[in-house]
Amino acid sequence: MVQAAFSVISQITERGIKKMLYKQRICAECGKEFQVKIRNPTKFCSQLCYFLSRLDRSGGDDSCWLWKGYINPQTGYGVAHGSPLRNRMMSAHRLSYHLHHGKDPGRLFVLHRCDVRTCVNPRHLFLGTARQNWEDSIAKGRQVAVRIGEANSRSKLTTEKVREIRRSTATSAELARRFGVSSVAVGLIRRGRSWAHVQDDLPTVDDRSH
Ligand SMILES: [Zn+2]
Ligand SMILES: [Zn+2]
Repeated sequence: MVQAAFSVISQITERGIKKMLYKQRICAECGKEFQVKIRNPTKFCSQLCYFLSRLDRSGGDDSCWLWKGYINPQTGYGVAHGSPLRNRMMSAHRLSYHLHHGKDPGRLFVLHRCDVRTCVNPRHLFLGTARQNWEDSIAKGRQVAVRIGEANSRSKLTTEKVREIRRSTATSAELARRFGVSSVAVGLIRRGRSWAHVQDDLPTVDDRSH
């Protein structure tokens, strides 16, 4: 009687025949019945179902499907472990494209029609080249500013500190100690090789974005 709930599946391996115990289970996402290894049980019949279980799809099929997992604070994109790609980290919308279309986007970019970065609805995603990605971001008015200067949250400096460094007559080593950066970094700022967008009497990129 217990037998009925389980099935034994034989698999031919290099060492001979390996028997594995499976049992029937209902997928927590799609409700389909599937077989699960007893040693390694999962609630979902497929990677796609597991992925779908991690989304907010309350708006329906055509609305944005929002990623409920981790979101990269720097880029604003959802981050997933991409099981189809040997468990490396990848952005959730790329994984969504992969799972729904059955193919890796490879070198191409997965772009959003809706401009909601945490959205992974495949109907809102399309493939593009690096150039199309750039044009798309300009069209949506969100280019440049993000990774430079203060907007880069790893930066120890601010626009104000950069101006102070440029005005100062102290040595680079002294300024480096004061601002907690290397003297090489101070030198680059003084020569305008980094933080070039900060110029004394002009509004900065950061200021203009308000
Ligand atoms: Zn399922
Ligand atoms: Zn969307």
